[in-house]
Amino acid sequence: MDFVEKSVVVSMGIATGFHCRLCGGLLNDCGLSFKQVPVCNRFTAPKEPVECHNLRLDQCARCQLIQLREPLPVDAVMPRLPWIKYREPEGHLDSVVDRLLSGHCSKAVSSFGVGPFDQPLLNRLERRGLNSLALETRPPPSGQGKGFPYLETWQLGLNAANLAEIADVHGKADIVSCRYLLEHCHDPLGGLRGLRQLISADGVLIVEVPDSTKFLAARDYSFIWEEHVSYFVESTLRSLAAKAGYAVVDVHRYPGELEDALVAVLRPSASEGEADVTQAFVSQSDLFRLYVSSLQSTRQSVQSLVAAAAGPSGDGVALFGIGHQAVMFVNAFDLSEYVAAAVDDDPNKCGYFPPGFRVRVIPSQAFLQDNRVRTCLFAVAPGMEHKIRDKLAPLAKRGVQFRSIFGGVPGSIISGSSSWH
Ligand SMILES: [Zn+2]
Repeated sequence: MDFVEKSVVVSMGIATGFHCRLCGGLLNDCGLSFKQVPVCNRFTAPKEPVECHNLRLDQCARCQLIQLREPLPVDAVMPRLPWIKYREPEGHLDSVVDRLLSGHCSKAVSSFGVGPFDQPLLNRLERRGLNSLALETRPPPSGQGKGFPYLETWQLGLNAANLAEIADVHGKADIVSCRYLLEHCHDPLGGLRGLRQLISADGVLIVEVPDSTKFLAARDYSFIWEEHVSYFVESTLRSLAAKAGYAVVDVHRYPGELEDALVAVLRPSASEGEADVTQAFVSQSDLFRLYVSSLQSTRQSVQSLVAAAAGPSGDGVALFGIGHQAVMFVNAFDLSEYVAAAVDDDPNKCGYFPPGFRVRVIPSQAFLQDNRVRTCLFAVAPGMEHKIRDKLAPLAKRGVQFRSIFGGVPGSIISGSSSWH
């Protein structure tokens, strides 16, 4: 087989000196790395060289948690622009609330949110008669004023000392919500342990994270992101919760097209537990191994497809939807020379150079005037594609092809097939 696969095999088992943030085991050297990619949120107004870093993704051989070997420093990840914000799914929250209030939380009267994505759940609980409070768990700004603190800073507040102070002021609640923050934590175990202090005697902690299984199976590398430190699947979320001293009451899975949402209902155990994390999850380990060993061939295949689509003049490819996945896709696969148009209708992004790109973001109205492009790559949620296709109908009319960058979408550019849709 190819050189990469061999090099992975020969390096197996070499200790790295880095420890797993779930079980503390030594990480070995079987993961994958991206060399010198920029921070995905580092859009710049004039084109300027952006700071780059290596990213290394490993799976702990003992507990199976997939994780960045070394998260970047908080200051390096902190957005430099005020409008960098992310969206998380909400459509399933009515069902989450129904399940909680008809089941384990039928007597709950109070709720807390600890991060930026809890308000939609708190709103629904309020409508059902609970009190709710969005806690300010973020540490105060360091005062250096060099950025706009967001998730990279928020996760720092999930530590025992800070949460103890908050509990002193606000007490405890029957439902504590922590949505889409745990995967950003440099110390997810400490964060979960600390959150016990906010939960009432019969209360629960609701943790919601994206499940990495689908993008791993689809060999989609655009989901790797310096802001996501842990890449959970159901078994590793359960292991982490148990290790942090919780009984896992329930894990609900809400299917998403590219990632499912995992909603865990956790109840603090009498004492902090030491879960048995030595249990082998063989299928997960195979999934990651395949993901790692497919990187090189996927990169080559995507590069040649995109280069061919760019054509001899090199300006035949556009990318629509410039979020962190689009940015990682371009930089991890070294595609910036082929992207002649970066299109996004978020007015905040217009005019900025996405990190590593050679072109500025333009809105779709301007894109419609671009007669060079023959292929438009979609980096938008699959459920949104039909709206974008409607918007870009004049392009389809003159023969422009549309193709998703996401491996989970049929006909995707990374599915390795050269058939066009
Ligand atoms: Zn581990």
